[in-house]
Amino acid sequence: MKNEINLTIKQEFIEDYKDGYPLISKESVVDWSKAVDEGTIVNLVDAKGKFIVKGYYGIQNKGYGWVLSSNADESIDATYFANKIKSAIEYRECFFKDENTTAFRVFNGEGDGIGGLTIDYFDGYYMLTWYSIGIYELKQEILDALKSSVEYKGIYQKKRFDGKGKYLDDSDDFVCGQRAESPIIVKENGANFAIYLDDGAMVGVFLDQKNVRKTIRDTYAKGKTVLNTFSYTGAFSVFAALGGATKTTSVDLAKRSLSKTQEQFMLNNIDPKTQDIIVDDVFNYFKYAVRKKLLFDIVVLDPPSFARSKKHTFSASKDYVKLLKEAIQITNKNGIIVASTNAANFSMMTFSDFVFKAFKELNSKYKVEKSFSLPKDFRVMDKFKEGDYLKVIIIRKIR
Ligand code: SAH
Repeated sequence: MKNEINLTIKQEFIEDYKDGYPLISKESVVDWSKAVDEGTIVNLVDAKGKFIVKGYYGIQNKGYGWVLSSNADESIDATYFANKIKSAIEYRECFFKDENTTAFRVFNGEGDGIGGLTIDYFDGYYMLTWYSIGIYELKQEILDALKSSVEYKGIYQKKRFDGKGKYLDDSDDFVCGQRAESPIIVKENGANFAIYLDDGAMVGVFLDQKNVRKTIRDTYAKGKTVLNTFSYTGAFSVFAALGGATKTTSVDLAKRSLSKTQEQFMLNNIDPKTQDIIVDDVFNYFKYAVRKKLLFDIVVLDPPSFARSKKHTFSASKDYVKLLKEAIQITNKNGIIVASTNAANFSMMTFSDFVFKAFKELNSKYKVEKSFSLPKDFRVMDKFKEGDYLKVIIIRKIR
């Protein structure tokens, strides 16, 4: 049993916590100095010492901890975690049954009742991501709970402790069970992906984009030319090619993206030689494309929320309009722009304004065809809308 301490909440925050707000913010607590060790279970109390909610202390960029229960008598132990994990699995019952998609999110942080922890499923393997030292302190109870709740081939982990969610490079991300082959091959809506569970921060695919990939394949790609910027392993390109795109062009700065994208194409029986895979700064590529008067039917924009390359710094909240303007200029009339961002620091409304602004500044016209937020397995809380970070707008350029 972890020892518990009381922390006093400022009056103006009490209603929010009673109402189900899950994040323990730095500002809301009077006496943080009492919390020494991350992972400590904290009872949030009012000025008179009356219990409000309990949670754990763990520093992340978002806050200083997460609420775990509104029941004063609930002890935060393996049984507690097993209940959360079991209900997360129940919620995803249909995902486990779907043979065409063997990779998805099983546990999505506060959306499933425990902020700071996610669990992804890759064809029998489970990968936990710990977002603070505090939640990692609770590792044993959480692992016991997971092991008693699921059948697994093996368990892996990623540590993202530095507050900004940056990956902590451990020599080994393997936790227990059977080691996975490197790569394992998973399916997503019938397509194949190579997944590396123990090769750095990213495993090869971002599971939150599956509905967008499927829509590109099933609705838009046939007979079209596709430019996929910030392409990473080329997941959007693979789906576009599978949907009958005449050609895809993938552009990413990272050298590894070339071989990784070739690999994903080959796994889907597409000859990588028939596709363009370019290692370059996207902003250089835009210049090149304009100079060569290249035009594409579909342009996918899925940048990181923040990135620094040798020549450019890109921040989604500051520079997305500029990025869109570059894309609009090389998109055919009647073409499609898939504008995506995972930046949590602005809303869908703001993102829509970016689109409006970019087209207006170029005196160009558009129509919004569809928009997406996180898929169902990336469960979010009504009381914590910031958790739904994904924003994707499919735009048709009219002129
Ligand atoms: N769209 C991808 C995920 C993008 S991850 C997918 O669907 O899987 C972000 C990628 O952007 C990384 O691979 C990184 O190498 C790349 N990147 C960051 N800055 C870049 C830049 N200026 N030009 C090209 N690629 C960049």
